[in-house]
Amino acid sequence: MTNPPLSDHSTIGELEAAGANVTAICRSCGTAASVNLRTMRLSFGAATPLRRIALRIACTGCGAADCSVHVTDSRDD
Ligand SMILES: [Zn+2]
Repeated sequence: MTNPPLSDHSTIGELEAAGANVTAICRSCGTAASVNLRTMRLSFGAATPLRRIALRIACTGCGAADCSVHVTDSRDD
């Protein structure tokens, strides 16, 4: 039995449980920021797919709500 690979289709709960690291990168200015999964879970709920949250994240650099998200699966370490 293997776990499914983590991606932006994974839910916040899955990513947090796996200890994944999520980085949001602004498509407009390139600012990268780490995403706090606990905060996201409290705001949006554990069953919310990451890709939906990506649409809601505003860039800390320029304020554009146009970020791509990248998942780093710490289980690979
Ligand atoms: Zn930006």
